[in-house]
Amino acid sequence: MTPTLPLRTVLVAGGAGFIGSHLCEALLAGGARVICLDSFLTGRRETVQPLLNNRGFSVVQAEVTEPLPDLGRLDEIYNLASPASPPRYQADPVHTMMTNVIGTRNLLALARAQGARYLQASTSEVYGDPEQHPQPEDYWGHVNCTGPRACYDEGKRAAEALCWDHARMGTDVRVARIFNTYGPQMDPEDGRIVSNLIVQALTGRPLTIYGSGTQTRSFCYVTDMVAGLMALMAVDPRPEGPVNLGNPFEFTILELAEQVQALIPGALPHQTLPLPQDDPKMRRPDIARAQALLGWSPEVPLAQGLKATADWFARHLGIEPAEAAK
Ligand code: NAD
Ligand code: UDP
Repeated sequence: MTPTLPLRTVLVAGGAGFIGSHLCEALLAGGARVICLDSFLTGRRETVQPLLNNRGFSVVQAEVTEPLPDLGRLDEIYNLASPASPPRYQADPVHTMMTNVIGTRNLLALARAQGARYLQASTSEVYGDPEQHPQPEDYWGHVNCTGPRACYDEGKRAAEALCWDHARMGTDVRVARIFNTYGPQMDPEDGRIVSNLIVQALTGRPLTIYGSGTQTRSFCYVTDMVAGLMALMAVDPRPEGPVNLGNPFEFTILELAEQVQALIPGALPHQTLPLPQDDPKMRRPDIARAQALLGWSPEVPLAQGLKATADWFARHLGIEPAEAAK
C-alpha cells in the first residue's frame, strides 16, 4: 500500500486581505492545509468566509506585532500582513512601521523555530520614486525617509533587511517585490486607483485623478500574482535575492481611466484632485529574474482583468453596470 503523504500546513499572515484571500483559496485548491492569521485591520472576514467550508482551512485572529499564538507544525509561512493602500497605511503610520518591522521579526522567528519556508510580501515601493526605469531588483531605490509614505516604504525595506539577515542565519527565506495588483475582493473603500475608478464609474460619480494623470503604473491581475507567489515559494534552490512580481505593461493613470470609461456605460468624466506628496512618477517591473528563475510571466491583459474586476464590483455592490448610465 502506498503511504499517503502528510498534507503540508501553510500559514498565511494577512490571509483575509485582498491578495491573501486569493492565495488561501489557491493553496487549498492545491491540497494544502491553510491557517489564515489576520487582525482584520484592513482585511474582512467575508473574503475568507466561503473558504471555511473546507476542512483544511482555519482562521486565527491575531496581531503580528504581538507574541504569536501556538499554531502547531508549519511547513510554509507567507507574510502578507500589512495595510497596502496609501490612505490605509498612512492612517496609523507608526503601527504600519511596527507591523512591517516587529511583525516580520515575529514571523521570521516562527519560521526559524519551525524550520519552515518563509515568503515575504515586499513591494515596488522599496524603489520609492524611481530614477531607473523599468526597475530591476538590483536598483537600490529612491525613497524619502521623512515623508508620509516612509512608514510603509521604509517599513518594507527594514523588513527585507530582516529577511536577508535571517537567510544568512540559515532560514529558507524568499522575498517577492509585488507591483500594483488588482482584481475581485479589493476593498472598495481603501482608496486604490483601480477600485476607486471602477466604483466611481459604477455609481455615477466623477472619476478622481490625482495630479495630471501622466504618472504611470503597471497593473497585475491577482490570479497572476498568486501564481507568482506560489512559484516563488516552490522553487528550488531558493533565489538568493528578491524577485519582482508584476505585469510589465505600463499605463498612465489617464489611460487607465479611459479604459474604465470605455468598459462601464455611463461613467462620468474625471475630476482633478491634488497629487499626494512623494507619489511615484513612474513604475514598471523588470521581470527578467522571475521569468528565468520561476518560468513565470503574467497572463491576464489589463482589459480582461478590468472587466472581471468591474463585473465582481457590480455584483458585490448590487449594481447593474447599466444603471450608472441612467
Ligand atoms: P490588504 O490590506 O487587503 O491585506 C493585508 C492584510 O493584512 C489584511 O487582511 C489586514 O487585516 C492584515 N494585517 C494588516 N496589519 C496586520 C497586523 N498588524 N497583524 C495582523 N494582520 C494584519 O492588502 P493586499 O493588497 O492584500 O496586500 C497584501 C500584501 O502585499 C501586503 O503586505 C502589501 O504590502 C503587499 N503588496 C500589495 C500590493 C498590491 O498592489 N495589492 C503591492 C505591493 C505589495
Ligand atoms: N490615484 C488617482 N486617483 C485615485 C487613486 C489613486 O489618480 O482615486 C493615483 C495615485 O496618485 C497614484 C496612482 O493612482 O499615482 C496609483 O495609486 P494607488 O494608491 O493605487 O497605488 P500606489 O500609489 O501605491 O502605486
